[in-house]
Amino acid sequence: MVAVAPCSGFHHAKYASGFGYCTFNALMVTAMVLKQTGLVKNVGILDFDMHDGDGTTTLIEHHDASEWITHYTAGREYLASYQADEFLLRIPEMVAEMRDCDIILYQAGADPHINDPLGGFLTTDQLRTRDKLVFESAKALAIPIVWNLAGGYQIDANGGISEVINIHNNTMRECVAVYASPSDYM
Ligand SMILES: [Zn+2]
Repeated sequence: MVAVAPCSGFHHAKYASGFGYCTFNALMVTAMVLKQTGLVKNVGILDFDMHDGDGTTTLIEHHDASEWITHYTAGREYLASYQADEFLLRIPEMVAEMRDCDIILYQAGADPHINDPLGGFLTTDQLRTRDKLVFESAKALAIPIVWNLAGGYQIDANGGISEVINIHNNTMRECVAVYASPSDYM
C-alpha cells in the first residue's frame, strides 16, 4: 500500500522553531496523530534527504517517542559519491529494520543529487534506484508507505527547477512501477 504527499520541508523543524526551509515537522505530526488516534503502534521514518534530520531527532526525544518510532536519517552517514554503492546495497536492510512498523514515512529528498548545490553523492539513475529499492522492500515486507518530497536546490539554465522536478517525477515513476495495481493505493 502506498500514498503520496507531494509536499516538503519537514525534517529540520523542531518543537518551537522552524529551521532550514522547514516550518513544521509533518513527519512527526503525522506519526503523533497516527499514534494518538490508535491507528498504529509503531512508525518508521526513513529520511533519504541529503541532510541530517536533526529536527526529527529532537522531536522524538521531546516526545519520548523512541520506543515506537524507528528513525533513520541517511544524511548522518552518507555524504560522498564513493559511498553510493554501499548506500544502495544497504537500503533493503534499512527498510527491513522497520519491519515492526505499521507504516513507513519515506522522505524522498532530491538534494542527494550529485549536481545539487547543497547535496551531492548520487546520480539521477542512482536516485531512481534508491526509490525503486525503497518501494520494492516495503512492498515485499507488506509495510504501507507514505512518501513525500524533500530538499532539492538545482536551478536549470532558464532559472527554473526542472532538474528537481525530474528527480521527483522519477520517484513517482518508480512508485507506479512497483505499486502497479489501483488496490495498492491508500
Ligand atoms: Zn536537504
